[in-house]
Amino acid sequence: MARIVMKFGGTSVADVDRIRNVARHVKREVDAGHEVAVVVSAMAGKTNELVSWTREAAPMHDAREYDTVVASGEQVTSGLLAIALQTMGVHARSWQGWQIPVRTDNAHGAARIVDIDGARLIERFGQGQVAVIAGFQGVGPDNRVATLGRGGSDTSAVAIAAAVKADRCDIYTDVDGVYTTDPRIEPKARRLARISFEEMLEMASLGAKVLQVRSVELAMVHNVRTFVRSSFEDPDAPGMGDFDNPPGTLICDEEEIVEQQVVTGIAYAKDEAQISLRRVADRPGVAAGIFGPLAEAGINVDMIVQNVSEHGASTDMTFTVPSGDLDKALAVIEQRRDTLGYDAVQSEAGLVKVSVIGIGMRSHAGVAATAFRALADKGINIRAITTSEIKISILIDGPYAELAVRTLHSVYGLDKQ
Ligand code: ADP
Ligand code: ASP
Ligand code: MG
Repeated sequence: MARIVMKFGGTSVADVDRIRNVARHVKREVDAGHEVAVVVSAMAGKTNELVSWTREAAPMHDAREYDTVVASGEQVTSGLLAIALQTMGVHARSWQGWQIPVRTDNAHGAARIVDIDGARLIERFGQGQVAVIAGFQGVGPDNRVATLGRGGSDTSAVAIAAAVKADRCDIYTDVDGVYTTDPRIEPKARRLARISFEEMLEMASLGAKVLQVRSVELAMVHNVRTFVRSSFEDPDAPGMGDFDNPPGTLICDEEEIVEQQVVTGIAYAKDEAQISLRRVADRPGVAAGIFGPLAEAGINVDMIVQNVSEHGASTDMTFTVPSGDLDKALAVIEQRRDTLGYDAVQSEAGLVKVSVIGIGMRSHAGVAATAFRALADKGINIRAITTSEIKISILIDGPYAELAVRTLHSVYGLDKQ
């Protein structure tokens, strides 16, 4: 007997029929004698709809009330799955975040889990009950419902797995694992049997939305054995209940990966915007003067490029922010025009960041040069570059996104044979 947390995403619970299918996956594990807790997302598209209603009510609104509205999607699916399980004879009960409780900080709309009390869940395991938990939500220090940011049910699942010391956390979704790149963009993408925590962290933070970044961080810190697998396969097909080797992708320590490739995957993030400040004074404190106020305004600055100044007097500073934050960022910069002393601001939205990821890069030279050559051959212009030990990120014009992803995927030999 083992303890398993199973998480089902929006497309897996998109309607009552699919919820019944999910119940069959759960029943399979229960019948095998395992202790099971389930985490569910809202029905596909529901959270978007709820978010749009809050915006319609008022473009700028109270984040606590946003949370009250958007957390409701998961309440519905947790109840429906509990009903479906009960109908199949499985002893099940739904749980909202506050009932466990999943305690979060006060950052409504993008809260972080600070503590989960696993005691009551473990007690229910002892009574043979399946807990069906509403993902994406917890309760803040103000005793109000708080949500974990988009895609947050993944994080709920991994955090619960850590809290109850589960043997495994299975993230069921609409693809059968983590691929070398988004299979919707590149049909030649290959499913990875394993991927390291570090690489998955980069893939997720650089745009692969298959797992929320925070869930990978938690899995890494608490060493949660996490699989990404499909809910669309027949729940009773051979091998589906294989405990040691379930179908899907295992996220694991680097040491567990036998055949290490130089490049593991390609990720992309749409909707980046670029801001350039022309002829900024070249003196100590200028970067702090620009990026301090942007950080205070909650704007995530990503790639930063500062030119070498020509005569030691002034320089150009270019950086990227999410397109959605562009207007806010420009307003912050405009407010500080006098203290910063720049000549002009230029900006452009709708750009894309493509990234090449792989821990094998640490010990290989020339990986970046290969990317630049391949993109140049396709006539794709590079606007900015950043690198780390295990990734290269390249900013390009929006319309070239798919071509760039496919080009890089093929040049590093990731295409399916
Ligand atoms: P869920 O609703 O189950 O949480 P998401 O839509 O959040 O599902 O994540 C699954 C989607 O992630 C897939 O449909 C796929 O298009 C996308 N995706 C992006 N990059 C990758 C990748 N490298 N491997 C697998 N899926 C990816
Ligand atoms: N329903 C939430 C969202 O769409 C959480 C999740 O699906 O993980 O962001
Ligand atoms: Mg998701």
